[in-house]
Amino acid sequence: MTQDQLISDYMNTGRIADLPTSHFIGGQSVPAANGKTMLSHDPGTATAFSEFARGNDQDIDHAITSACAGFEVWRSTPPAERCAVLNEAARLMRSQSHQLALVESIDSGKTLAEASGDIAGSARLLEYYAGASDKLDGRSVNLGNDNAAFTVREPVGVTAHIIPWNYPTSTLVRGIAPALAAGCSAVVKPAETTPFTALMIAELLVRAGLPPDVVNVVTGTGPEAGAPLVQDPRVQHVTFTGSVATGVGVMQQVAPNVTGLTLELGGKSPLIAFADADIDAVVEGAFWAIFSNAGQICSAGSRLVIHRDIHAEVRDRLIAKAQGMTIGHGLRNPDMGAVNSDRHLTQIDGHVERARSCGVDIVCGGHSLTDPETGLGWFYAPTILDDVAADNDAVLKEIFGPVLTIQVFDDEDEALTLANGTEFALAAGIYSRDISTALRMARRVDAGQVTVNDYWAGGIELPFGGNRKSGFGREKGIEGLDAYLRSKAITVAV
Ligand code: NAD
Repeated sequence: MTQDQLISDYMNTGRIADLPTSHFIGGQSVPAANGKTMLSHDPGTATAFSEFARGNDQDIDHAITSACAGFEVWRSTPPAERCAVLNEAARLMRSQSHQLALVESIDSGKTLAEASGDIAGSARLLEYYAGASDKLDGRSVNLGNDNAAFTVREPVGVTAHIIPWNYPTSTLVRGIAPALAAGCSAVVKPAETTPFTALMIAELLVRAGLPPDVVNVVTGTGPEAGAPLVQDPRVQHVTFTGSVATGVGVMQQVAPNVTGLTLELGGKSPLIAFADADIDAVVEGAFWAIFSNAGQICSAGSRLVIHRDIHAEVRDRLIAKAQGMTIGHGLRNPDMGAVNSDRHLTQIDGHVERARSCGVDIVCGGHSLTDPETGLGWFYAPTILDDVAADNDAVLKEIFGPVLTIQVFDDEDEALTLANGTEFALAAGIYSRDISTALRMARRVDAGQVTVNDYWAGGIELPFGGNRKSGFGREKGIEGLDAYLRSKAITVAV
């Protein structure tokens, strides 16, 4: 079926044909051991559209046993064959992108265009790490004539991947693609509100030639399925993407086994605009930095830190642009889709209401919405909070919705203090026509990635990750392989 046919089929029936709804273990669809299921909702209509398996420790045990067997096969597979499998998976992902994007859009609430971009980026991730699979060389070390010494890089073993709901496909693939390139196997626990694309991708990998036990997916809740996965001593590395609170819990859960851990947590990233900045670029950059994916991006530019001289003009242009946004069901491709769940909508609204009660100036939005065509769904208006004090919770806490706070500065040191003034340190944008100012700030701001005169510059080739409460470890880029490889030193007496 074409994408238009798939959309009209869904619109008419409220169901998606051929959706996988069981766990994927050992290359098979496997129902929950206890037979339990749970529902997934379309955030654009606030209506349940499918059941899926509600996994528990028995399912996780089954999946890890499978991944242990898969590891033995995959670690012995020649690197050039791993490369071929990942490249074939990228090809299949592109050929199936219209179905994957449709499911991702319905399950998460994001627009079809955003979902399609996520699938295309994920295919690129597979190709990028396919290219790395056969280049994971060690080095030879000169210890003098009495020894031959060298290092080899070995896969760590079974890896666990805990996925959030805002980028279900991209987060999954940025974890499993380098793990597979390295020769590891994987057990994946998708978020409870967005389980389906992980199941589709696991099945697609087997069609691409991956041995069936290597990637396993167990759906369900964090406490019932995520916790037993990260606690299992057979797991050698956990890659967790999600909230700070859950990440701290995972850190405690993996400690007894001394399991390796990558934490990709929250953010409150500043976009810093100096008085000499290109105003058009600041408006465009700040707008999409916060309103892409309805603000549900860990690295969203959720704080505009702006020089007093250009504050009023940029603010007024952002308000006009935000008020002109189209909002609605993701499949109609508006500027902004729904937020992921009823619970999350309530949390966003709670943050904004607390700011209102502190007297913060809400110059745009500040309320929930429904789809203008149907009156249904979980939507939040694009919202701007102006001239917010540095100690206000709206500035300090991650809202994870389409809510921008503006902070005003008079000089560079004050800009830096404001930019570094939260417990997060994930991303930053700097806008200035003065290259020295921009580079000085790029070095002084605490963030894992900094973009100058643009917000979303860079791609999968660059490392991504945060400092402080934004987590530790890096995904994407060549650095993304490090978590899945260990170095072994071998010395031979001559
Ligand atoms: P969350 O922490 O509620 O859930 C994330 C995942 O953890 C889900 O799959 C959940 O089921 C699982 N989980 C919950 N309890 C668990 C437990 N005890 N053991 C193991 N797993 C458990 O986060 P969320 O609400 O799904 O995602 C939003 C958060 O994720 C935001 O804070 C956002 O900034 C962050 N995030 C970060 C990045 C990044 O790369 N830094 C990317 C996307 C999202």
